[in-house]
Amino acid sequence: MAVRIKTASPGERKLSWWDRLYFPAILSGLAYTFQRLFKKPVTVQYPEEPIILGPEFRGRPVLVVEEGKERCVACGLCARVCPPFAIHMQAAETEDPKERYPAVFEINMLRCIYCGLCEEVCPEEAIVMSPEYDFVFRTRAEAIYTKDRLLVDKKELEARLSWLNKMRNPQIGKRFRFPISNNIHSIKARTMSLQGEEVAS
Ligand code: SF4
Ligand code: SF4
Repeated sequence: MAVRIKTASPGERKLSWWDRLYFPAILSGLAYTFQRLFKKPVTVQYPEEPIILGPEFRGRPVLVVEEGKERCVACGLCARVCPPFAIHMQAAETEDPKERYPAVFEINMLRCIYCGLCEEVCPEEAIVMSPEYDFVFRTRAEAIYTKDRLLVDKKELEARLSWLNKMRNPQIGKRFRFPISNNIHSIKARTMSLQGEEVAS
């Protein structure tokens, strides 16, 4: 007597006669492939073609230079929050009203995971995620970015800074109509706003 072995698992969809032919599915796949031949490709021939990324992209972190000076006040928050301990810095005193600046500021790009936490905690918007993503290093020493390689003028980072300004707690502003000063991340910018000064992003 022949024994019937059930191979279908419980809950498995039963195939109809049409499904079991397989040809309709193959033809539908081929039709889709054929359609795509006449559409604009979505792939980019990198590295020959550069990839233009939006301001939401988190590339390598950089230090913002404003009016010829770094914004950083060497508070050390970014170094403390950095999960893989990629940031090393040493503070020094200055004659300026901002009092301190980073005499040494280094980011080990072999450790950086582009999480953006340094940018998030910085009270001065002094460290931001740049759009730069294609950089190489041949030695471990080259992967340690010192201050001279980290400093980038604010003008080159306008897109990211404006995006940060726009995205800062938008849901809170919409629902509860908190004063804009509550949504200003930077202590410097918040003080300026409370004093009625225009706050640049
Ligand atoms: S992006 Fe993240 S991992 Fe990289 S330096 Fe900032 S906090 Fe550290
Ligand atoms: S958190 Fe901002 S201000 Fe503080 S050390 Fe880092 S970059 Fe400088």
